Amino acid sequence: MKLTAISLLLAALVSPAIHAADKELNLYSARHYQTDEALYANFTKQTGIKINRIEAKEDELLERIKNEGIHSPADVFLTVDAARLAKADELGLFASVKSKVLEARIPAHLRTNDWFAFSTRARTLIYNKSTVKPEDLRNYEDLAGPKFKDQVCSRSGSHPYNLSLLSSLIAHHGEQKAEAWARAVFANFARPAKGGDTDQIKAVAAGECGVAISNTYYLVRLMRSDKPEDRAIAEKVGVIWPNQQSQGVHINISGGGMLKTAPNKEAAVKFLEYLASDEAQIYFADGNNETPVVPTVKTNNTALNALGKYKADALPIGTLAKNATLAQKIYDRVGWR
Ligand code: FE
Repeated sequence: MKLTAISLLLAALVSPAIHAADKELNLYSARHYQTDEALYANFTKQTGIKINRIEAKEDELLERIKNEGIHSPADVFLTVDAARLAKADELGLFASVKSKVLEARIPAHLRTNDWFAFSTRARTLIYNKSTVKPEDLRNYEDLAGPKFKDQVCSRSGSHPYNLSLLSSLIAHHGEQKAEAWARAVFANFARPAKGGDTDQIKAVAAGECGVAISNTYYLVRLMRSDKPEDRAIAEKVGVIWPNQQSQGVHINISGGGMLKTAPNKEAAVKFLEYLASDEAQIYFADGNNETPVVPTVKTNNTALNALGKYKADALPIGTLAKNATLAQKIYDRVGWR
């Protein structure tokens, strides 16, 4: 017998013992923040469960889990964006998790039966402090008005962050109004949609546009940067928390769930519960300057906290996910690609 065949046979013989012990957790993660190291190390310290981590882009990970089928070693899948998590759920990849801890800690609109949000990310309006009056900019709807002709910068409509924003507007105002909004905002663009949120903030600071749509953590990253040029960009711009008198600022999430085929189910549930603990919430949110989902958790992120308190949209994350396909159709129809 060849050596590889022997080792395969040995692996087959010993693997049931490993499963029974649940001393390991196989984590497939599309998160890629350096500070997550400490988050995982702390779990191992608390539980003795070792984390084997596979990091890749979400689509690659989903493809991999599908291809691995019932033999997939993946226990937990973590990623960002409600629609992406819903897609994994639609593919039948997640197991239902009944956990008193998760139910008690995570607000109902930030969880489903199968997947859970662990941090939220607000999608705000970032404006140039020397050219735009903040009082002209209270709501997402203002982006569609004549005051912001040739003033708006945004990334592509196909990006999950913008799909999710439009999904929320569909839920609140219906398809027709949401489409009229997208069309008018697109007509107000200062330049074609390109780049990520940070590029939009830079364009606002440079005066290329008056206002950009961006998640706050991109701005906080610039505020906390070691580079003086990044901090200079942040100095030039201000943040609007939109729709504070109506539904609240749109939030998307970062989250995850246990896979149906998880070999280490006990460890997987423990890990999900750990992610909702005070300690983990602080790591999880501060690592990328996001907001904890557990309302009682206070973070030490002074830059993020300096942006002030805000009212967040309480739309269930499942609803956001459901409208994402329609949102894409609308962006296509209006040309916001
Ligand atoms: Fe991002």
